[in-house]
Amino acid sequence: MKSPDNWGPLVELAEALGGATACSRPVSDEGWRSHEEHTGQTGKIIAPNLYIAVGISGATQHLAGISASKYIVAINTDKDAPIFEAAQYGIVGDAMKILPQLVSAVKEIKK
Ligand SMILES: Cc1cc2nc3c(=O)[nH]c(=O)nc-3n(C[C@H](O)[C@H](O)[C@H](O)COP(=O)(O)OP(=O)(O)OC[C@H]3O[C@@H](n4cnc5c(N)ncnc54)[C@H](O)[C@@H]3O)c2cc1C
Repeated sequence: MKSPDNWGPLVELAEALGGATACSRPVSDEGWRSHEEHTGQTGKIIAPNLYIAVGISGATQHLAGISASKYIVAINTDKDAPIFEAAQYGIVGDAMKILPQLVSAVKEIKK
């Protein structure tokens, strides 16, 4: 996500879906998000119905915390990112462009 300033659409998407945000360890180590949100081997283990991995490479230490999710959707610019092997659905593309479209689509459906 490059910077904590880019979290707005992620929070908006989570709220629109009635969910919550989580993050990888580097993000919480940088202090961009609270350690409460850090998932993985050294963080929380979560098992939501839907986990949307936005700009997550799919390191084994991260997968350890999210693999029990019912559905994993990955959004990543790198088509070879390991997260796509763990995901049921994937979008290859720029999260900065895709997230606002997803937020609009979810809000439209919920109208
Ligand atoms: C002992 C140990 C324990 C660890 N424990 C944990 C843990 O508990 N949890 C954890 O998460 N990590 C843990 N790690 C770190 C782990 O190995 C990875 O470094 C970390 O998960 C990578 O985080 P990331 O996916 O956010 O970042 P990166 O690996 O840097 O991946 C960023 C991804 O974003 C994609 N990207 C870039 N720009 C865009 C864009 N505009 N749109 C879409 N995609 C984009 C890139 O293609 C890349 O795949 C641990 C490491 C060690 C050694």
